[in-house]
Amino acid sequence: MSSFVVALDVGGTSMKGGLVSESGVVLLTERRPTPREEGPDAAVTAIRDFISHLAASGDGIPSGVGLAVPGLVSENSAVYSANIGWRDVPAADFTALDVPVRLGHDVQTGGLAENVLGAGQGVDDFLFLPIGTGIAGALILRGEPYGGSSGWGGEIGHIPVFPDGEQCACGQFGCLETYASAASVGRRYSQRAGLSGVKAEEVVASDDPLAVEVWDEAVEALSLALATYTLLLDPSMIVLGGGLAEAGPALFDPVCTRLVKRLAFRDAPPLVPAALGVDAGMLGASLLGWRAAGRPDLGPGWTVNVRSAPLVS
Ligand SMILES: [Zn+2]
Repeated sequence: MSSFVVALDVGGTSMKGGLVSESGVVLLTERRPTPREEGPDAAVTAIRDFISHLAASGDGIPSGVGLAVPGLVSENSAVYSANIGWRDVPAADFTALDVPVRLGHDVQTGGLAENVLGAGQGVDDFLFLPIGTGIAGALILRGEPYGGSSGWGGEIGHIPVFPDGEQCACGQFGCLETYASAASVGRRYSQRAGLSGVKAEEVVASDDPLAVEVWDEAVEALSLALATYTLLLDPSMIVLGGGLAEAGPALFDPVCTRLVKRLAFRDAPPLVPAALGVDAGMLGASLLGWRAAGRPDLGPGWTVNVRSAPLVS
């Protein structure tokens, strides 16, 4: 009988689950939708069923369960998620199995995975910044994700970059996310051009002057936020992930140039693409599962290949 953990990354729209062995072999992965419409209890039940189902696909009883969830999180409870609507759900409620469970914040758990297995291997101080529908960051300080005094640490998406700017969904004005998330880039161009539903990647690729302007503002907002982060915390590198990082040099080159320009008396940290892509959350959750099982030593040295694992759906 081989030992394994159940790992689950709970996103706003879908959940990605997997079984990960002691040596880092991803035994299988599976995806299910996150029920959001039916209220928080339905979401907790769906997670519990998914974990039981994944565990039953393994050989024996799992050694632990790791879960990456959105919102405000402690090791032992899902404190609050605006997206899903839950408040103070104890970790044990997420599983019917009598095995140790550990929870992590979704982005911080992705940052943990990039730290142990991905682009930030061997790097103690870096920022992991996935840019997707929204923007949130994981601060890796001294080799561990840092959530601050109340768990809100890392909300870089809501740093005000243009103080007199547009109002953000969060209520503040001029937030980074309002200008530079993939959703915002698409929305802002669509509004200006009188179109609807244009995607960020189309804006990046377009030579329409309105598209160039919107992209330029996104790059400007990012370089401002990253200069602030660099001056405050002096990271060794900044790992950019999420859908918008797929833009490659169209994102990295101009942000890097402007970041260098903004930092007069010190070098800019290198901007590096994330290595684990959409699997970062699930892989980070597997590390949490092993930590819950009393094996914090596992992870370093794994060569994970999620794509070779059978995808059950
Ligand atoms: Zn905001």
